[in-house]
Amino acid sequence: MDQVRPNSLLGLQLPELAALVEELGQPSYRARQLFEALYHQRVETAEQISTLPQDFRRSLAENGFSVGRPEIEKKFVANDGTVRYLVSCADGQTVETVWMPEGDEGEMGDGSDAGDQAEAGHNWQRATICVSSQAGCAVDCQFCLTALLGVKRNLSAGEIVGQVCAVLRDQKVSPPEDRINLVFMGMGEPLLNFDNCMKAVRLLVEGVGIPESRMTLSTAGIVPRIYDFGAEAVRPKLAISLNASNDELRTQLMPINKKWNLAVLLEAARAFPLRARERMTFEYVLLADVNDSPQNAREVVELVRGVRAKVNLIALNPGPGIAFGTPATERVLAFQKILVGAGLPAFIRRPRGRDIYAACGQLKRTLEISGTESGMVQLG
Ligand code: SAH
Repeated sequence: MDQVRPNSLLGLQLPELAALVEELGQPSYRARQLFEALYHQRVETAEQISTLPQDFRRSLAENGFSVGRPEIEKKFVANDGTVRYLVSCADGQTVETVWMPEGDEGEMGDGSDAGDQAEAGHNWQRATICVSSQAGCAVDCQFCLTALLGVKRNLSAGEIVGQVCAVLRDQKVSPPEDRINLVFMGMGEPLLNFDNCMKAVRLLVEGVGIPESRMTLSTAGIVPRIYDFGAEAVRPKLAISLNASNDELRTQLMPINKKWNLAVLLEAARAFPLRARERMTFEYVLLADVNDSPQNAREVVELVRGVRAKVNLIALNPGPGIAFGTPATERVLAFQKILVGAGLPAFIRRPRGRDIYAACGQLKRTLEISGTESGMVQLG
């Protein structure tokens, strides 16, 4: 399933670049120049790497090497500032990457970051990039639009990092000066593409400049990989998509629960080596009259007992082909109140970019069904 483009420079680590540079008969310091150009300068073509002599750039091209960055094919801008990118890989597979600026002037709490904002020259305090880890997804969660696509293939480390580089360049921002968070919550199940995701994480930390403490990886609950993930020296924070409060319900909503049920999932969560002050996130998509009752909330409290956790509540983002409804706001608030009342921090996640179809997998799926982008603002 791994169709890594062999001659793509993006995705190569420093030692791999060093080997390449040596093979092409260049001095070893060229590897560092390549690394800087790829991940820090975020060039689009090898031709743009002005630190390299012409003959080396030519030799890269002659040997079939290119930057290999996925391209922004379409761009949709929502009223709330969310930008949804449809990004295409070299083999024509497309995935989604989302840009979510937060804390604009209208919603600045105490205004304490106002100085930062002015200095940075933009009207947001921090922004989150949501990346895809696979084209499509095999996990088949019943409320998720990506599931309807099935799984096409794993993304390479270069394609994952490439999504971030493409968005940063398009938004004209640069971490660490600009506060960028990263979530592996786009299309796909990152823990079913473990090695490439972890390689991407290291490149994002070392090359792009986004600290791992600003990254969150979300999983549907691939239990053996949760243990592997906990053992990684450089890793994002972990979020587990819980989405149900008992096995019967979870198996209906997330068939993966037949393979790894709540008992083994929560055992892995309890064993997970959280760092100082780190909390594990449990995500819970609320489906009207399915998993959103006070009883469900009380069951969640019992389930996650013993884990230093917080819960992110997400009211379903509805979409074509999804047979569930979005609960009323009072229902969501009542659910949150029970968790918070039991001492479990719980936050309601604001839906982002509703007007551009922002739920997981929604844009691509909507395009596939209708063959049109009607109702969306399309740029570029
Ligand atoms: N496969 C991973 C990451 C991608 S999904 C995972 O399952 O965690 C990221 C989050 O979006 C998950 O918490 C998932 O439950 C949620 N999600 C999926 N479809 C949704 C929808 N239609 N509305 C709201 N959230 C959704």
